[in-house]
Amino acid sequence: MKKGIYTSAEIKQLIEQMNLIYDFVRIVDPVECQELDFNNGRVIPAKNCYNVWNNDKRCAQCSSYKACLSRKRVEKNEYHEGKTFHILSFPVQILNEDGTIVESVLECITIKEGIEEGHSEGVKVKDDSALVDSLTGLLNWDGFYKEVRKKLMTTDQNKWAIVVCNYVNFKMINEIFGREKGNEVLIKTAEIIKSELAEDECCARLRGDRFGLLVHEEKLSEKFLVNELSNIDVIDESEFKIKVQIGVYPIKDRMTPVSIMCDRAAIAISEAQGFNKVVYFEDSMMKKIYYEKYITDEFEKALKNNELKMYMQPQVAEDGKIVGAECLTRWIRSDGSMIMPDQFIYVLERSELISRLDMYIWEKAAAKLKEWKNSEFKDLYISVNISPKDFFYFNACEYLNKLIEKYDIDRKKLKLEITESMMMVDEQKQLALVERLHESGFEIEIDDFGKGYSSLSLLKDIPADALKIDKQFLKESYNNAKSERILGSVVDMSKRLDMNVIVEGVENTRQLERLVELGCDRFQGFYFSKPIPVDEFEKLYITNKGMINNKEAA
Ligand code: C2E
Ligand code: MG
Ligand code: MG
Repeated sequence: MKKGIYTSAEIKQLIEQMNLIYDFVRIVDPVECQELDFNNGRVIPAKNCYNVWNNDKRCAQCSSYKACLSRKRVEKNEYHEGKTFHILSFPVQILNEDGTIVESVLECITIKEGIEEGHSEGVKVKDDSALVDSLTGLLNWDGFYKEVRKKLMTTDQNKWAIVVCNYVNFKMINEIFGREKGNEVLIKTAEIIKSELAEDECCARLRGDRFGLLVHEEKLSEKFLVNELSNIDVIDESEFKIKVQIGVYPIKDRMTPVSIMCDRAAIAISEAQGFNKVVYFEDSMMKKIYYEKYITDEFEKALKNNELKMYMQPQVAEDGKIVGAECLTRWIRSDGSMIMPDQFIYVLERSELISRLDMYIWEKAAAKLKEWKNSEFKDLYISVNISPKDFFYFNACEYLNKLIEKYDIDRKKLKLEITESMMMVDEQKQLALVERLHESGFEIEIDDFGKGYSSLSLLKDIPADALKIDKQFLKESYNNAKSERILGSVVDMSKRLDMNVIVEGVENTRQLERLVELGCDRFQGFYFSKPIPVDEFEKLYITNKGMINNKEAA
């Protein structure tokens, strides 16, 4: 069997082939206890899966359920009516024509007469208590999926919506006030949600602090939910304010698996900026999710196929002399198309993939510095970007120090760009890491200063050698005199703190002249050159004898 995602046509073909080998083959959604069928290129629920065993409740030890959760093949025997059913459960992902993916299981069943000794007949079933959350008394997610499916199949005219909610800062309640308080909040939440439901609606605690509701769309009282849930008074001894996030998926197609409906409501939550508001799922959110999945899936392959390229953008002194370059990554696909960093770095930063990229690029930069050591480029430095997330995923200090030893290069030639946002999380710990890098001899540059929330006070704490002013700051500064005065004082302050000032995003002579007047030291921007492949950078350096001037006409 191939690994990965199947279209419905492929899965039908697979079932046909498997039917030649096994007595009975079917596709199931074990989370919903449902057999699946196909209609117009997409998966639809068919009869209840436990019908096969003549039972009216789900199998207690459903092997397909285990296969689905573990994404691994599971094998099991079931005994029924004097027969042994040997079930092989293969987890498969089916791609619907609308791009949604359904997690399901291919069951290949061999039926033998007789029951092996030591086994009793009959499928053990889950009793109803297994469908209830013991803390809140609401349904759990198994119970919820089942109940929602039942309601969707038995009512015609209603417009339903799935609502999912959770708290932004629930972990803090447990950590600061203890688990007991956390539990109280969950119980109170369950009461509030339940009080709001009509008789034919239902709700559940899906997991942790995440609750799910099936409601009539037109009756959904968003205001009530936000007000009540964000004003839970369980924590009365402090000013701590609980913050709720609510996502809604208005059900368009009842045949969609309930797990996907809940995922979509959750996607709306993840798209929400802020809290204490209700966000509705939109199809455009899926496009973003698929794009991000594509980036994550393709990245490892891209790394292997050498699709991630080191580009360089020159940094220039006041007199036009090229003093170094910033290393910026470009992802060049096999078809020649280019993916820019702002289209993939943020995706990689959600997992440890960002450190795979950074380790790779830093090593390329170190290797390049070694190659330049005894050449006409020997005076140049390379600045590399460090993602705030790198420090979470690996020991960046140790790795950088090893690179210096491996390539036998000067630490000062490999400059490190860190962003202020890195300091926003666990300031003391991050500061200690930067101090260690600085003490071991690396030059630290604070990147993107002026983008977002810059704090001047932070500057005195970070042991940095240079401040890189963001292009955004530059744009604003030339729009009004006040911002220009701010830029002036940032330069003054940096000088007093013994830091060089690099300006990024220089695009014209007028900007350059003013920045020189203000006392900035190094300049980077399209005025001199866009980021270019390394060989082009080297050519540019040689052709121009290490200088770049008046590029504005270009
Ligand atoms: P950054 O480090 O602030 O890099 C400067 C960005 O400004 C680059 O965008 C560069 O092309 C752009 N830029 C330079 N001069 C000008 C100009 O005159 N006008 C305008 N409009 N833009 C200019 P790029 O290459 O798209 O990189 C974006 C960001 O992605 C970088 O911002 C950096 O934070 C991140 N990045 C790039 N490569 C890597 C990498 O390998 N690892 C990590 N962690 N981050 C990277
Ligand atoms: Mg940078
Ligand atoms: Mg920058």
